[in-house]
Amino acid sequence: MSPVRTIAVAGASLAGLNAIEGLRDSGFEGRIVAVGAEDHLPYDRPPLSKEVLAGAADPASTALRDPDHLDSLDIDWELGRSAVGLDVDERSLRLDDGRSVGFDGLVIATGASPRKLPTSRSEGRSGPGQPEMDGLFLLRTLEDSITLGAELAKQPRVVVVGAGFIGSEVAATARSRGCEVTVLEVAPVPLAHALGEEMGRAVSALHGDHGVEVRCGVGVEGFEGAGRVERVRLADGSAVEADVVVVGVGVAPQTDWLDGSGLTVAPLSEGGGVVCDEACVAAPGVVAAGDVARWRNPLFGEVTRVEHWDNAIQQGRHAAGNLVRWLAGGEPEPFAPVPWFWSDQYDAKIQYAGRAAPTDEVTVIDGSVDARKFAAVYGREGRVVGVLAIDRPRPVALLRRRIAEGVTVDEAVKEFGR
Ligand SMILES: Cc1cc2nc3c(=O)[nH]c(=O)nc-3n(C[C@H](O)[C@H](O)[C@H](O)COP(=O)(O)OP(=O)(O)OC[C@H]3O[C@@H](n4cnc5c(N)ncnc54)[C@H](O)[C@@H]3O)c2cc1C
Repeated sequence: MSPVRTIAVAGASLAGLNAIEGLRDSGFEGRIVAVGAEDHLPYDRPPLSKEVLAGAADPASTALRDPDHLDSLDIDWELGRSAVGLDVDERSLRLDDGRSVGFDGLVIATGASPRKLPTSRSEGRSGPGQPEMDGLFLLRTLEDSITLGAELAKQPRVVVVGAGFIGSEVAATARSRGCEVTVLEVAPVPLAHALGEEMGRAVSALHGDHGVEVRCGVGVEGFEGAGRVERVRLADGSAVEADVVVVGVGVAPQTDWLDGSGLTVAPLSEGGGVVCDEACVAAPGVVAAGDVARWRNPLFGEVTRVEHWDNAIQQGRHAAGNLVRWLAGGEPEPFAPVPWFWSDQYDAKIQYAGRAAPTDEVTVIDGSVDARKFAAVYGREGRVVGVLAIDRPRPVALLRRRIAEGVTVDEAVKEFGR
């Protein structure tokens, strides 16, 4: 009888859970050890900036699976435990309590954590740094959301630093709770790096519609207050009064624990992440998935890292399938998705699919930008490489599939009749 094989999964959240399900669905019957730094069984993060933060959903409702289903997966959980080291040659994962887990295969799914405001010496960027001060918040975990939600219930004056998707959702939720909200964005146009200027303006206009002021092109100089934040000082010499400040300036993949492992980790200045090949393989028998994984997506011919809910699911499953294939002596398959995400802000549902660049040409194919209900495609050399919509789910659902088939801008325009 062959010995029981072990697959270790580092990171017990969305990508890790989907990898575990992918392992079982691919026929892996051996031992699965799931190591998760949080005390919780896997839970969902999108509600943390939406329903849970709004106080409209029970935090327990974020559980990703019911206990019976988790039992059926037969997982050895190591929760509240971090992986602190990896020896790829020895096939061993070191835990923070000094124990080691030997493995035949490993899934790295340690996700990302919120970035703090940089100091002038860190990350090559200038900034005020982020002092340890009451009233200053980051948002990633269930506890973060519950704590911040309790603050928002007091209807404080809220400043959100960063007009990205998480910052914008926090601003919208805070507004829905009756807070006075100001959003600060250092770039001249919010989201322009991701959506281009025209669409960045179109999406961030939602804030103005709901009485939230967005101040662009001005950096944060520092925070003032006696123990607790009272105001945010800006680089132009002005200040914004605040009882609560939420910093949403992006995330950094959780890769510190891989120092010395022999795996390649991209520098943060290049986007960070565990460097994998097209099949999400970081080393023989080691795959990565979700927010932490950097891989070459053959569909767009680019090396990328995707911080979307759907990607964590698809990539977790795909990487797990490849690991099982590898254990059986087979060839791993490339992971070539059309990335997709949504963001709920105020009463609008924003959706985006593809990999557009700010230089792509934008064509509105349905609805009206001014009415904040539209779908627009991003074209490169006549082909659709991305689609963005507010409250227009159908074009996104259809074009998402057809981007992979090489649909042209002309075809998209014809189909949606504009
Ligand atoms: C507030 C919020 C709202 C969001 N809303 C949306 C949305 O509307 N739409 C959308 O598409 N996406 C959204 N996302 C993004 C989406 O939730 C993430 O892309 C997804 O959670 C990534 O899953 P993951 O498993 O790769 O990483 P994570 O969810 O970050 O999970 C990684 C897990 O690994 C653990 N871990 C880290 N280091 C170690 C270690 N060394 N050892 C053991 N465990 C470790 C972490 O504690 C964490 O539990 C949102 C994210 C947040 C935070």
